Amino acid sequence: MADVDKLVAEMTVEEKAALTSGADLWSLVPIERLGIPAFRVTDGPNGARGSAMGTVGPTSVCVPCGSALGATWDPALVQRVGQMLGHEARTKACRVLLAPTVNLHRSPLAGRNFECYSEDPLLSGRMAAGFVRGVQSEGVVTTVKHFVANEAEFERHTISSVVDERTLRELYLVPFELAVKEGGTLGLMTAYNRLNGTYLTQRAEMLDDLLRGEWGFEGFVVTDWYAGGDTFESGRAGLDLEMPGPARFFGPALAAAVEAGRVPEADLDAKVCRLLTVFDGLGAFDDPPGAPERSEDRPEDRALAREAAAAATVLLRNDGVLPLDPARLRRVAVIGANATRAQMVGGGSAAVRPHYRTTPLDALRAALGPDVEVVWEPGADIDRSPPPLGPDELRTPDGEPGLAVSFYATPDLTGPVVGTTVALDTRFFTTGLPLPGLEEEKFSMRFLGTYTPAWTGPHLFRVAQAGRVRLSIDGQVVLDGIANPPEPGGEEFHGMSGRPQRVTVELEAGRAVPFQVDYTAQGSYMTYGFQVGCRPPRPDDLKERAVAAARDADAVIVIVGTNADWETEGRDRETLVLPGDQNELIRAVGAARPDAVVAVNTGGIVEMEWADEVGAVLQVWFGGQEMAGALADVLLGRAEPGGRLPTTIPHRIEHNPSYGNFPGAYGEVRYGEGLLVGYRWYDTRQLPVRYPFGHGLSFTTFELGPPVPSASTFRPGDELVVEVPVRNTGSRAGAEVVQCYVEAPEDGVFRPTRELRGWSKVVLEPGGRARVRVVLSDRAFAHWDPAEHRWRIAPGRYRVAVGRSSRDIAHTIDVDVEGSGVVGSGVVGSGVEGSGEEGG
Ligand code: BGC
Repeated sequence: MADVDKLVAEMTVEEKAALTSGADLWSLVPIERLGIPAFRVTDGPNGARGSAMGTVGPTSVCVPCGSALGATWDPALVQRVGQMLGHEARTKACRVLLAPTVNLHRSPLAGRNFECYSEDPLLSGRMAAGFVRGVQSEGVVTTVKHFVANEAEFERHTISSVVDERTLRELYLVPFELAVKEGGTLGLMTAYNRLNGTYLTQRAEMLDDLLRGEWGFEGFVVTDWYAGGDTFESGRAGLDLEMPGPARFFGPALAAAVEAGRVPEADLDAKVCRLLTVFDGLGAFDDPPGAPERSEDRPEDRALAREAAAAATVLLRNDGVLPLDPARLRRVAVIGANATRAQMVGGGSAAVRPHYRTTPLDALRAALGPDVEVVWEPGADIDRSPPPLGPDELRTPDGEPGLAVSFYATPDLTGPVVGTTVALDTRFFTTGLPLPGLEEEKFSMRFLGTYTPAWTGPHLFRVAQAGRVRLSIDGQVVLDGIANPPEPGGEEFHGMSGRPQRVTVELEAGRAVPFQVDYTAQGSYMTYGFQVGCRPPRPDDLKERAVAAARDADAVIVIVGTNADWETEGRDRETLVLPGDQNELIRAVGAARPDAVVAVNTGGIVEMEWADEVGAVLQVWFGGQEMAGALADVLLGRAEPGGRLPTTIPHRIEHNPSYGNFPGAYGEVRYGEGLLVGYRWYDTRQLPVRYPFGHGLSFTTFELGPPVPSASTFRPGDELVVEVPVRNTGSRAGAEVVQCYVEAPEDGVFRPTRELRGWSKVVLEPGGRARVRVVLSDRAFAHWDPAEHRWRIAPGRYRVAVGRSSRDIAHTIDVDVEGSGVVGSGVVGSGVEGSGEEGG
C-alpha cells in the first residue's frame, strides 16, 4: 500500500491537476516520476468492452441488458454476473467498469431503458448493489451512473430535469443510495443533464453533502464523457475526474485556478487523495504499463450468461402451449426478422463485441436436432434504416464469413498493409485509433470480399460515414464519399457522421458479386466509422408467406422485436409500437394459429395489443450473447422462465405517467408525475394495464400462504420480519418471486397506493415448501419531508400486501405504526431477505 497522503504532498500542483483529467478516451494521466501508472477504464453494463468501442478489437462476454437483469429479481445472480464482468474488465487491463446504469424507466420511450433495470427504485437499487459487489470483488471499481435524473436522450448534453425534492429522494436517488450503502461502490458518474438548472458536476450539495456526507460514499466522482462542467464550481465541488482527456476544464485549467487562488489547493488535494486511495486500495499501482487487452471466452461465463438470460425471460401469457414437447414436433415454423439476427444488446456505449453470436433460428435448429424441420420466414421488414450486411451474405477472398480488412498507415490506402482482421458485417466503428501506431486522421482501410444477395432486383444501399467511404460493388464504384465527401449533419457515430448517402444497385439472387469498402480517416477526429446498410427488394407478401408457413407446422414461434437502431443511446424511441408491420404479422399468424408463441426481443417494453390472440408471450429482452440458447431452453422446457416484469406494460403509451412531459421542451423536462412513476401511477389511478409490474408466470404453480409478521406494531428503529409460506403445487421445479408492498394510511400526506418494499425469489421442487422472509425497516414506512429535509414516519395503520405482482395480491396484513418520528437515513426498505426450505 502506498502512503497516499505522502504521495500527494510530494506532487506539484500541475501533477495533481493532471490526475484530475483523462489522458485520452479510456486512461488517466500517469505520473511516472512517482510510480503512478495510467489507470484504465472501460464501459460498461452489458460487458467489459475494452478500449475498442465498436467493431474491432478484442471480444467480450455480452451479458443480458439491464432491463433483463432487472427482470431476474435476483441480486445474488446479478452479483455473479458482476463478478464475471469484473474479471472481464481485468482481461481488458482495466480497473474501472463504467456501470451499472441505474436511472429509472420513467418513460418507456427513453432510448437507454435497455441499460437500466426498472421503473422501481428499490428493485433497481438492489440489482445495482449486487452488480457492484460482484464487480468490485475482482479488484475493479464500478461507477454507478448517471447521477441523477437522466431519464431521456433528448437534448442530452444540456436538458434540465425539473424534479421536486421529495420525488428525487423517494425515487431517483434511491438506486444510487443503495449502490453506495449496500453495494459499496467506489465510483460514481455524473449525468450529462442539468438538475433543476445546474449541471451535476457543479453541485457541491449533491456531491459533497449528500453523497459523501450523508451516504458515506468514499470513492471518486467522474464526469460523463465530454459532459458540461467548469473549472471553478466543479473545482470546488466534489467532482474528482474529468473524462475523457485531453482536459477541458480540469487538468492545466484547474492548476491555473489553484495558482490564482480561485480554487483552494485543499480541494485539489482532496480530489487526488480520493482517486489515489481508491486505486491504491485495488493494488493498481503495480499494474504493468501498456498491458495488452485480451479476449477470454470461458465456458463458465457462457453458462452464467445463459442462466441469466433464462432467469430474465418473462412468461407473460401461456395458454398451455409452453413448454413445447419436442417429441411431438416434426416441423416448426420460425417467423420474424430477429430470428436470424442475434439482437443481444442495444446501441451506444453499452454495446460490446461478443465472443460469438448465435441466432435464435440456429439455436432452435441445434436444440431440436436433425429430425425436426425448422422453416423460417421474415414476415415483416422491421428496420429503421437499411441494416448492415452480415456474415451469412459476405465472404472474404479466403471464403470465410465476413470481409477481409487491411489497414494502412497512410490516408490514401497506399504503402504497406500494417494490420489485418476480418469484419463480420459492413459496419466499422471505433472511438480512438483502431490499431496502435496509426495516427489520428491519417490512416485508411480496405474491406474486401463478395456479397451474395438473397433476392433479385433493386437493392438500396445507404452509407453513413465518420471519415470518408468509397463503395464498390461488382467492380463499379457506386458511391464515392472520398472524392465527394457528404455534407455534415448525420446522427450516427455520436453525431460525427456526414449526411447519409444512398444508391440503388440491381443485383441477382444467388450471384456473388465483388464487394469493396475503402475508408479513409480524413475529415474525422477520434471517432471513426461507417455503416453500409442494404435494403434488398422484398416480396410484398411477406406476411402471407409467414402465415402459410405457420399453417402447416406443428409449432409456430414468432420472434418479434426491435434492434440497436431503434433502441440506442443518443436517441429516444418515437413510439411504443413494434416497428414495421409486426403487429399485423402477429395478428395474422395468431388468426391462423391461436397456439403461436410470440417471443419479444426488445430492450424496453412495447405495446402488445395482440397479446390475447396468441397462445403464449415471452419477453426475452436483449438477452446477451446466450439469449438464443436460453430462448430454446425455455421454449422446450429445459429452463424455467424465471423473470418477472421490472416495469409495467401499459395498454398504450398515452396511459404512461410521463406522457405530456416527455421528452421535454424549451430546454427542460418536467417530472410532472412526481412520485407516480410506473405502477405507482397505474395502481393509484386504477388504470387497467396490459401486464402489471412484477407479473410473470412459471411452468409450475405456487401457493402463497398467509404471511406471519414478527409483530403487529412497528416503531421507528424497529425491523419487521414478514414470513410467507410458499408451496410449489405443480409437477415441475420452478421459481416464484414473493413480493411485498406497503400501503400507507391516508394521513394528509399523499402516497402512491402501494410501493414495493421487499421481495424474495425462491426455487422449489414439485411439492417443495419454503418460508421466505422479507425484512422491513424504517424506510419501508417513511416518506421524505421536503420542509424539514428529512425522512419521516407518520403513525397509523399500514397495510403490508404480499403477492405475485402489484396487481395480484394474495394476502394483506395490518401493521400499526406507533409514534411518529424523524428517521435516520438508514437502509432503504428491507434488509436481508432469505428463505428456508422446509422439505416436500
Ligand atoms: C455515456 C456513458 C459512457 C461514456 C463512455 C457516454 O456517452 O453516457 O454511459 O460510460 O459515454 O463511453
